[in-house]
Amino acid sequence: MIHRRKVLKQLAVLPVAGSLVPIDMFSPLVHDSDKESVNPLKRDYFKELGVRTFINAAGTYTFMTGSLMRPEVVEAIANTSDDFVNLNELQDKVGARIAELLDCEAATVTSGAASAISLGTAGCISGTDPKNAALLPHIDTTKLKSEVIMQRKHSIEYAHAIEVSGAKVIYVDTKEELEAAINEKTAMYYFVNFLNYEGQIQWQEVLDICQKHNVPTMIDCAADVPPVENLFKFQKMGFDMVCFSGGKGLRGPQSAGVLLGKKKYIDAARLNAPPFGETIGRGMKVNKEEIVGMLVAIEDFLNRNHEEDWLLWEKQIELIKDSVSSFESMKTEVVVPELANVVPTLHLKWDNRVLKITGDQLKDAMRMGHPSIEIAGGGSNSVSVTTWMLKPGQERIVATRLNEIFNAKSEKNHAK
Ligand SMILES: *Cc1c(COP(=O)(O)O)cnc(C)c1O
Repeated sequence: MIHRRKVLKQLAVLPVAGSLVPIDMFSPLVHDSDKESVNPLKRDYFKELGVRTFINAAGTYTFMTGSLMRPEVVEAIANTSDDFVNLNELQDKVGARIAELLDCEAATVTSGAASAISLGTAGCISGTDPKNAALLPHIDTTKLKSEVIMQRKHSIEYAHAIEVSGAKVIYVDTKEELEAAINEKTAMYYFVNFLNYEGQIQWQEVLDICQKHNVPTMIDCAADVPPVENLFKFQKMGFDMVCFSGGKGLRGPQSAGVLLGKKKYIDAARLNAPPFGETIGRGMKVNKEEIVGMLVAIEDFLNRNHEEDWLLWEKQIELIKDSVSSFESMKTEVVVPELANVVPTLHLKWDNRVLKITGDQLKDAMRMGHPSIEIAGGGSNSVSVTTWMLKPGQERIVATRLNEIFNAKSEKNHAK
């Protein structure tokens, strides 16, 4: 025991990136995880490993570990970890409950929105025959449909998840091209919700054409809650499958997501998923804790007071904005993106000859400070900040640090 303590102690003093930066101007506002653990039984794993925690004023980025799970979700994970259940039965029951909550025929918990895309696509190819699922990604094109259509502009990085099934992607730009591309090999149409722009083929036009030709439609809404209405909107609109991330706005497990929609497509998707072994989805496992955690995250999200959340985020953004808006050349703008990451977002832009720091340098300075803070954007003279991933009170730390750094870099200060 003593020996183990010693080892832990040594681990705890591993050098940590940025630890040499001598800034501690607001000690009453220390980050929770920077505090000495008072409970001797509670290990500080990140400290032991020399992995630095940070304040997230950037957003829900996978490389920053997404969002923080709600306490209800953490509790659900802990409470379900101590018993065995049948995985298929659990998916059946949780799927039915999610479908009831979200007013659709069926749902299933996946290992993320990307997995929902892969499994939904695979289901459109395999149908409900496990022998077909076992063939993928090698599609017998004499028997099975093998093409997925999307607009060229919708080929975002995550669309790669479609091709895991073995499907070939067919790109179109216009309604005419879409209609011409549909044939007996067409397995599915994939739509990225946040790209529903004027000048593209929009929601209803896609649905009209695909429904006319009996082509199943999938919409990727991974990062598109809030608003809460989006959990219902797209199945109502007529999309056959809708994908959400669990670990973004829903604040469920980061390694979970949900695929919801028409029962026949969800059933087919599940044949391509664990526990079944001979499938393209075998590496996309979600266990009981995350499955129940995903359900609880959805329940919690539906029950939240979203206006209250919004008012808090706005107030936090205002406070941060006020801390920098008087610097010479600083332009501040609060925007709310229309379709994805729909939260108050503060854009800062400045003349880097007046405030002598680039966006990238500012991001580094925020990251290397104590506590470490992540913001988004960067480049030569701009950054952006969101507040929805902050713990209450952290907005003051973000505001103080931004003010300090800009103050140190302002021309007036240099002239002194
Ligand atoms: C984040 C994202 C994904 C991937 O979601 P995961 O839950 O991380 O798998 C897919 N599509 C879009 C549009 C996204 O923003």
